[in-house]
Amino acid sequence: MRSYSRRWPVVFSRATGSHLHTEDGGRYLDFFAGAGALNYGHNNPTLKKVLLDYVGNDGVTHALDMFTTARRDLLEALAEVVLRPRGMDHKVVFPGPGGANAVEAALKLARTVTGRSGVVHFTNSFHGATLGTLSVTGNSQHRRAAGLPLTGATPMPFDGYDGRHAPDYLARLLADPGSGLDRPAAVIVETVQGEGGVNVASPEWLRAVADLCKRHEILLIVDDVQMGCGRTGPFFSFEDAGIVPDLVCLSKSISGYGLPLALTLVRPELDVWRPGAHSGTFRGVNTAFVTATEALRTYWTDDALEKSTRAKGERVGDALQGIVDANAGADLSARGRGLVQGLVVGAGLADEVSAEAFARGLLVETSGPHDEVVKLLPPLTVSDAELAEGLEILAESTRVVLERAG
Ligand code: PLP
Repeated sequence: MRSYSRRWPVVFSRATGSHLHTEDGGRYLDFFAGAGALNYGHNNPTLKKVLLDYVGNDGVTHALDMFTTARRDLLEALAEVVLRPRGMDHKVVFPGPGGANAVEAALKLARTVTGRSGVVHFTNSFHGATLGTLSVTGNSQHRRAAGLPLTGATPMPFDGYDGRHAPDYLARLLADPGSGLDRPAAVIVETVQGEGGVNVASPEWLRAVADLCKRHEILLIVDDVQMGCGRTGPFFSFEDAGIVPDLVCLSKSISGYGLPLALTLVRPELDVWRPGAHSGTFRGVNTAFVTATEALRTYWTDDALEKSTRAKGERVGDALQGIVDANAGADLSARGRGLVQGLVVGAGLADEVSAEAFARGLLVETSGPHDEVVKLLPPLTVSDAELAEGLEILAESTRVVLERAG
């Protein structure tokens, strides 16, 4: 089941900023960034310093959910830097080390709070590889690996999927006693589907989903595991839509350093769990707390990173449009928000473009159900020169693949 080591069959030994280095001296520009876990780059020096200091002073490394100074510092930073300025009073659940843990916790809590079992998700969604998260994931390859029927979820068309407006359609189904759809506990949505093909939901569509949830007392879960922590520009990807979800899932770049950390943010009135109702050994990786706190205080006390991400995103979007225009006969397209950008190259071709890019020193991932999208996720700290270099390699790789494909 290895995946990335098949795509990039070299042995990496060092990493700094936007680059990975191999044991035999190779150097790769990294537009993959740990699948979005390295928004601030590899071994970010500011975060590395607090981590080294903390370990050097024998700071607690592992603490389940016991109180520690590192945990307190992170909760204070989250409240001060992220939640309060956005008018959010959500409680913070430490659900376990990864994104799937954050989603599992949200699904469990939504079901417990409402007493309902169904969850609505969207076509081409990806929420993790555990049974609960697979049940709300679209991708059939991932779903098949479950090995048993996945239940308790209903798929609806994502924005732009087939022209059908899911919020209106859902409203109709919920109003019709003959529709066969029971009122769900929750709707779970990604604002931009990272694994599903860089599909971008419009702010209007997201608002319509949020309105529908409110009207029918259905909980809204935004899975910001990949698109949060500034990937689309603002800290939360849903900010541009002006919505506030009931539950928010964060992981990947929340530790800032590639250390395992996940959070589920929960409206206070939804916190109905009894002590110990949700558990897990690795809910207190304090080294990750320390780097997370520093990342929030370094990058999110002003809007500099948000602005630069939006500006870089536009530059990448323009460059991708340039590749589309340069290959006018080939039916390419480009889409994205902030520094998650996709180049749609056609079914089966994204892997080939990624392989050509690798041969030229660039790591880029693919996404979409038909291997049709080259997905760009550079670190948000990427320099202009690095962006230009990577985009140049991508243009050349695309040209070579399209020429070969005829
Ligand atoms: N949710 C989203 C939107 C994701 O992109 C991912 C991983 O790619 C997950 C959940 C699962 O996170 P993890 O792989 O850390 O379990």
